[in-house]
Amino acid sequence: MKTGHINVQTENIFPIIKKFLYSDHEIFLRELVSNAVDASQKLKVLAQNGEYNGEIGELKVEVILNKEEKTLTIRDYGIGMNADEIDKYINQIAFSGAEEFVQQYKGKEGAEQIIGHFGLGFYSAFMVAEQVKIRSLARHEGAQAVEWVSNGTTEFTITEIEKAERGTDIVLHITEESKEFLEEGRIRAILNKYCKFLPVPVIFGTRKEYEDDPSGEKDENDQVKQIEKEVPDQINNTAPAWTKKPVDLSDEDYKNFYRELYPMTFEEPLFHIHLNVDYPFNLTGILYFPKIKENVEIQRNKINLYSNQVFITDNVEEIVPEFLTLLHGVIDSPDIPLNVSRSYLQADGNVKKISTHITKKVADKLREMFNKDRADFESKWGDLRIFVEYGTLSDEKFADKAKQFTLLKNTDGKYATLEEYKEKVAPLQTDKVGKVIYLYTNDAESQFSFVKAAKDRGYDVLEISGPLAPHWLQKMEMSLENVSFARVDADTLDKLIKKEEEIPSKLSKEDEEKLKPVFEKIVDGDKFKIQFESMSESDAPIVLTQPEFIRRMMEQQKLGGGGFYGAFPETYQMVINGNHPKINEVLTETDAESQAKKAKQLADLALLSQGMLKGEALTEFVNRSIELV
Ligand code: ADP
Repeated sequence: MKTGHINVQTENIFPIIKKFLYSDHEIFLRELVSNAVDASQKLKVLAQNGEYNGEIGELKVEVILNKEEKTLTIRDYGIGMNADEIDKYINQIAFSGAEEFVQQYKGKEGAEQIIGHFGLGFYSAFMVAEQVKIRSLARHEGAQAVEWVSNGTTEFTITEIEKAERGTDIVLHITEESKEFLEEGRIRAILNKYCKFLPVPVIFGTRKEYEDDPSGEKDENDQVKQIEKEVPDQINNTAPAWTKKPVDLSDEDYKNFYRELYPMTFEEPLFHIHLNVDYPFNLTGILYFPKIKENVEIQRNKINLYSNQVFITDNVEEIVPEFLTLLHGVIDSPDIPLNVSRSYLQADGNVKKISTHITKKVADKLREMFNKDRADFESKWGDLRIFVEYGTLSDEKFADKAKQFTLLKNTDGKYATLEEYKEKVAPLQTDKVGKVIYLYTNDAESQFSFVKAAKDRGYDVLEISGPLAPHWLQKMEMSLENVSFARVDADTLDKLIKKEEEIPSKLSKEDEEKLKPVFEKIVDGDKFKIQFESMSESDAPIVLTQPEFIRRMMEQQKLGGGGFYGAFPETYQMVINGNHPKINEVLTETDAESQAKKAKQLADLALLSQGMLKGEALTEFVNRSIELV
């Protein structure tokens, strides 16, 4: 037996490991299983290169829980380590810059920075274990198996042992504090989270299953056999879809993989994008386009980031632009520095390139779908729209590409691209200064009377609604030349699309002066501003409008959540149609009481047609109407 000192040139690395990594203890298992997988794959590589000539056997990683002994063992049949290798790779950890690191980061936030980055993956075991054993038989012919033991100080012992099979056991004696890691459910959950798609089979079993076997011999190798026999409980799919070639995958394969990723989601994805880049960085993955509808928030954080099939995080905000976090799926890249702080990630050149690349891929895919099968694209537009709007608002490059496949849908359910639409409505909807006015409604039912009036004149009305619409409209107005959007109820049609010819008014200035106080008396003056206009006789006698800019301001305040909302009073224009015969009747009525009654009736009818007549006012209106019959 040999005893020695772990070569750490600072006082003691362990308290630092424990302190830094406090929040994320569970990742010790990810680190140890990844090491075991690496050891297995290295053996394959050695065999391929002719550097290993023995039997490879069945390569797998076993995770064995023994509650009674309070141990958790991670076992592999990989390359193993002899005493020299343990000395080199385990004892001399300070080689990899741990000291420098400790000096630099002492007391600073950024726990994840040590793990992996400085070759401390193995030592993360001490976050949960009071004693760690490495029992290993190296691949070399005639190798001597050894056991390394450390109790979490810089002291260790190394002893020659008997071990029949090639590979390494990492045996953790779990501390009282960390006894959660002796719970089968907890371990299974961690394995499912981090190891679900590792390239080497990961088998999980417990000591209990071993003991249930009447013929069981209680040495560790038998325990393994028992696990194989009784509970072939493989955690992972070693060849997940994203590692395969697109030509080898059917639509059904992609859908199945989606279900594998999100067993709790019942909706099928709309379509997928298979990413495969090898220059200037490595990246593979499959992104799925979910049915988003308006549930923007619910859909987030469903992209899982992997590094060589090891799960890292489902928080990818630093790696993909925010609007892409609406997508689901997997990104796998060994080139993303995984164990560094977020601010570092954001500044990293590779990460930026990855983000740009994914954005481009997504835009290209949408354009390709649009070009290939327009009808199908239109049928998906309801789910795509919010995403495209979001992307258009947040990424200039995406916005530029999106112009080609952004669709506008009108109240008849017909779709048009931006270009097509301009051509379609320009002849009728160009105003006298040459601006093309796109009319839209955000609720065709409650704005029915306005929509109908517009259509009666041969105008087209778009359906535009949703949480992003106000911002998106503004963005469109900025990028489309000579176009502006107006909601159908923003003003009277003659004002929304101002033409040369104006209808002469039947009311003189004096008539208007006489009528104004009549109406002011019967409505809430803070909310409704009285205004006269010469519309056609066939238009309604009174129309309520809300100027586009006031409404947009209010909508944006609501969206932005700024403190202004509420400070801005909700106001409407009560537009009186000077040419309507009923208005003339009100004007010529000599009895003041019946004049007020008539005016009130007309105003209420305007409110009613817009769903704004409620409560007591509605009851009064009904009673007054009954009297009139
Ligand atoms: P990293 O994996 O980042 O290099 P670790 O501290 O996890 O850092 O491991 C240090 C080294 O110890 C590894 O690079 C590897 O050479 C060796 N090692 C760790 N675990 C095993 C194992 N199960 N089998 C063989 N070698 C291992």
